[in-house]
Amino acid sequence: MKLSKGWFIIGSIAIFLVIFFSITYSKDNTETPKPELKFRKDGTFKIVQFADSQDGPDIDIRTINLMNKILDFEKPDLVLLTGDNVDDSSKSSKEVKKSIDNIAEPMERRRIPWAVIFGNHDDEHGKMSKEEMMNIYTSYPNNISQSGFTTSDRVGNYNILIKASETNIPVFNIYMLDSGKYDYKTKEYEWINYKQIDWYKHTTEAIQQKYNRTIPALMFFHIPIPEFKIVWENGQAVGFKNEEISSPKFNSGLFEALVDTKDVKGIFVGHDHLNDFVGELNGIKLGYSRSIGYGTYGDDSFSRGARVFFIKESDPSKFETWMRLASDFHN
Ligand SMILES: [Zn+2]
Repeated sequence: MKLSKGWFIIGSIAIFLVIFFSITYSKDNTETPKPELKFRKDGTFKIVQFADSQDGPDIDIRTINLMNKILDFEKPDLVLLTGDNVDDSSKSSKEVKKSIDNIAEPMERRRIPWAVIFGNHDDEHGKMSKEEMMNIYTSYPNNISQSGFTTSDRVGNYNILIKASETNIPVFNIYMLDSGKYDYKTKEYEWINYKQIDWYKHTTEAIQQKYNRTIPALMFFHIPIPEFKIVWENGQAVGFKNEEISSPKFNSGLFEALVDTKDVKGIFVGHDHLNDFVGELNGIKLGYSRSIGYGTYGDDSFSRGARVFFIKESDPSKFETWMRLASDFHN
């Protein structure tokens, strides 16, 4: 009796320990890894850029319907939301979460990796900071955003490496930057600041050293830089300019840094809903995506849409890009 009671206690302790450690262990491993980005087996990679969905907890359903149609038609490998993803209409943090849930759903349902940057309107509701919103975005299983390099007012400066189809070597890169907002004191748009430009230079240098070569890249942020005006005035740009180019007056030198470093082949923004032109300056393409959002300003005769990028592993420095519009779909 005594012996079996002793064994019973030891046995119970052993079982308890096994359960305890297996729970602890499995807890550490329940966090599913984020999706890895690779070129497809056929050596191609497709990106969809959704600009300025700019809506709140009761989103205009036409925005979601168009996102769904474009994703089903283009079947991208990555989706980028380039700022002014939500507007100022949320009255509580719960409503901010709802606003983000709305625009997350089309990608999450299809398990398409997606990433975001902030625009000038994203935190104007004042109910959540950019850091708090970034935590919501990154909580979705397929969202690969990062707070990355942050300064006091810029959150979400990071890069995304895309690996070759057959190896684990990255062959393409994407830079995401927070271009700030409207400064109500000076009545001017803010610019990409020197800390961000510094971060970009260091990141590029580190990548170059690690992989022993320059990896071609695209760069995305929300507010166009002053060079967008030069590109339009040169008269070579293709696409529409139906409103003013709302870039900051101050040129902080980002473009010069990119020309110098030579890895970024294209800069793409949103912000001006009715512009979608693409031009080229010093070997770098500068372009817009017109807006996807129906709940914000627009023009009913100017179809909403998204910009698409098609990259080939065999020559990733060159990329094709086009707009996919609501008017392309017949229902
Ligand atoms: Zn904007």
